[in-house]
Amino acid sequence: MDNTLKSIINNQIDYFNSRKTLNINFRIQLLKSLKKEIELNEKEIENALNKDLGKSNGESYLTEIWFVYSEIKIALKNIKKWVKRKPIRSSLLNFPSSDFIVPEPYGNTLHISPWNYPFQLSIAPLVGAIAAGNTVLLKPSEYSINTSIILEKILAKVFDDGFVKVVQGGPEVASKLLEFKWNYIFFTGSITVGKIVAQQAAKHLTPVTLELGGKNPCVIDETASIKVTAKRIVWGKFTNCGQTCIAPDFLIVNRKIKEKLIKEIINQLSLAYSNKPIESIEYGRIISEKHMNYLSSLLEDQKILYGGHFDIEKKYFEPTIIEINNFDSKLMKEEIFGPILPIVEYDNFNEVDEIIKRYTHPLAMYIFTKNIAFGKKFLESYPFGGGAINDTVVHIANDRLPFGGIGSSGMGKYHGKSTFETFSHYKPYISRPLWIDPPLRYPPFKNKINFMKKILKII
Ligand code: NAD
Repeated sequence: MDNTLKSIINNQIDYFNSRKTLNINFRIQLLKSLKKEIELNEKEIENALNKDLGKSNGESYLTEIWFVYSEIKIALKNIKKWVKRKPIRSSLLNFPSSDFIVPEPYGNTLHISPWNYPFQLSIAPLVGAIAAGNTVLLKPSEYSINTSIILEKILAKVFDDGFVKVVQGGPEVASKLLEFKWNYIFFTGSITVGKIVAQQAAKHLTPVTLELGGKNPCVIDETASIKVTAKRIVWGKFTNCGQTCIAPDFLIVNRKIKEKLIKEIINQLSLAYSNKPIESIEYGRIISEKHMNYLSSLLEDQKILYGGHFDIEKKYFEPTIIEINNFDSKLMKEEIFGPILPIVEYDNFNEVDEIIKRYTHPLAMYIFTKNIAFGKKFLESYPFGGGAINDTVVHIANDRLPFGGIGSSGMGKYHGKSTFETFSHYKPYISRPLWIDPPLRYPPFKNKINFMKKILKII
């Protein structure tokens, strides 16, 4: 076992055992300091995100920095309510008794985060973990290295290493960290690595949250308003250059409106990113050459309707639209996670149903329709993480909606109160007086069995 990691983790174990994190005012004070430190480093965070992913400052603020401020604000506003011991109605069987549920921290938690929203996806879970009184060891992604460095700097300034510590590195470091016995593991990333994390966690029976990905379908029926539909699809798909876990992966469009919709998507692309996205400061970049190679391999043998140009060295990948006629290609089998938008047409909803059922439970699903009642019925008839009628991605913006996958798109949930709940064990206990002790439950039962049955049937 790695001795440096061992001593970092032992330090966190001692820190948790010192019970310092149980002090609510201490947690509040640190969350406030975290917010302040982020504010002081806003420019550096934006620069790092720009270097890593070519994000514009506007996009970085909206999708990463604001999101984190919002999570901190919610935690600070509610933490005193969340941590309260709650009285629960008791069972008559235990009469008299007072019953309670109290949230307690799991203890030492390991967080492994990805590169696509490297700031938001590292800090948002951490906020809830701290609010709930856990220590955090964060391993950010080796790909978004500029953001990983600024994350380390901010967190080291605010927290003792025993409370929060960043450990840099790639899969080798993550594998070593997973050997330890954690009290909770929070992982965001791919399905493949999610399975490894789950296997490692199982060795110690450690509970996990897995925030994974998948292929998110987006259905557009013939009643949808073309302009606003195209605008919202373009925004959800091409923000962060398509590297968003809940971006629509592919469209399933009614044949009657397909041509019109494609035309309007192209129009909206030029309004958002100009006719030369490579020159637009609003259009991001792909994280690495490895990911560029993967994306370019998806174009092989495809019918490109729009775009299709890329420059591996510049990590630039043009917004691209593909017409799909079969599902056998890699493009239609694997999560795209980039600015390629496949379009499949349908005539009737049986075809839509068949297409959706080809895939495992996605992280998100969307439908555009004027018939809201039908939209609800549609979304409620498939299992998926979260979704929207007549929009894409935006369900993530409401902290009162739990965020997470189902089946292969993940397990567990977070955001707002859900993050606090994720990092808390809700411990029930009861309190009974000693001055009274009804004899019903004690053997011998011989003479009281009928009475006991009567009572048990009533309560
Ligand atoms: P990834 O699984 O390759 O890496 C995620 C993290 O795991 C990184 O920190 C990485 O260093 C670490 N890792 C890599 N190999 C590992 C191993 N063998 N053992 C332990 N840790 C290992 O994912 P990624 O490429 O960074 O992110 C893209 C994926 O993440 C996509 O599938 C996307 O859908 C998903 N994602 C999901 C969410 C969500 O909230 N559900 C959010 C963002 C991204």
